[in-house]
Amino acid sequence: MNTLHIYLSNLKHNYETIRKQIHNSTQCIGVVKANAYGSHAIHFTKGLVDLGIDKLAVAYVEEGIQLREQGIKTPIMVFYPQLKSIPELVGADLEPCIYSRELMESFKLHLEAMKIKDYPIHIKYNTGLNRVGFPLIDVGWVLEKTNHPQFRLESVYSHLAISEEERPSPQCTLQIERFEEIKKKYTKLLKKAPKFHLLNSSGVFNYPNLQYDAVRCGIAFHGYANKSEWDVHLKPVAVLKSIISQIHKLKKGSSVGYDNGWIAPNAVRIATLPLGHADGIGRHFGHHQSTVSINGYDAPIVGNICMDMLMIDVTGINCETGDEVTFFDTSKSAEDFAKSGNTISYELLTGIGPRIKRVIHQ
Ligand SMILES: *Cc1c(COP(=O)(O)O)cnc(C)c1O
Repeated sequence: MNTLHIYLSNLKHNYETIRKQIHNSTQCIGVVKANAYGSHAIHFTKGLVDLGIDKLAVAYVEEGIQLREQGIKTPIMVFYPQLKSIPELVGADLEPCIYSRELMESFKLHLEAMKIKDYPIHIKYNTGLNRVGFPLIDVGWVLEKTNHPQFRLESVYSHLAISEEERPSPQCTLQIERFEEIKKKYTKLLKKAPKFHLLNSSGVFNYPNLQYDAVRCGIAFHGYANKSEWDVHLKPVAVLKSIISQIHKLKKGSSVGYDNGWIAPNAVRIATLPLGHADGIGRHFGHHQSTVSINGYDAPIVGNICMDMLMIDVTGINCETGDEVTFFDTSKSAEDFAKSGNTISYELLTGIGPRIKRVIHQ
């Protein structure tokens, strides 16, 4: 019934596009958090590994463990490890991104207790996003703490708050300056410099000169880079399809859905589809905000979206029960559909619920 088709051939295209954007010596970190942006954690990650991705990254330890259990051997960074997850992180051979003093201290204690040396770690600095990361003034403290046989410092990084903003962006410039300052301190004080990285997907397109030693790409592998002029170089990987469960002919003035969400202004034909906000099609797509395509025509979503179903107006559209309906595909992108509901591709894709069947196409 509902299907999220995943086209790995388009992933290959996107991977090759990103690789062409960066130098041969720049590492590519494939960010596969949140079920690989709602696609399919294992198949998508295996696709990246087969293409030759240098490293992987997830948000939380559980996600890394899941990949290890499925046989993924590539190094995996964990962006946001929590204090309590340290033993599991080490047990699954995952690389922590250390962003706070508490995390640094706890991690060190754990390695000491386990008599583990030379464990790969990454250090995250907050240069202005103000989400996680050490402040600039902590560089000295962090350097002293990392200079310990327990640790092997792999990389030092930060994250831009608005990497897609047109250059010159004052906010990016400030973050870049701060990152440069951090980098200078490290290269001055350490014999062997770690890797440095700053860019996400849009950053790769906007600041190719700032790729340093690695880039961290997530959404670009799915075909989006937060600006249409960059999106044209990429191909959407995910296609969301449904079918018509039932069609009603309604008289003018009939109400449709919960809370009389829509009153038919004329005689209409309404089709009901078997997916709703529990599947990731949030209520903000209802009330004529968004359309789906059916047999070549656009049909608006009417009234309130239900938990398991939603209704579309198919008046004048030649269609019947069982016909296929497309939410987004390679021509009507997830970015466009997301925009119609006032959201972004990230939220739409990662919100596609577990009830929707994933079909992988090589
Ligand atoms: C999610 C994430 C990324 C990937 O960002 P995209 O915009 O999807 O490329 C990169 N770095 C960090 C720290 C992240 O949390």
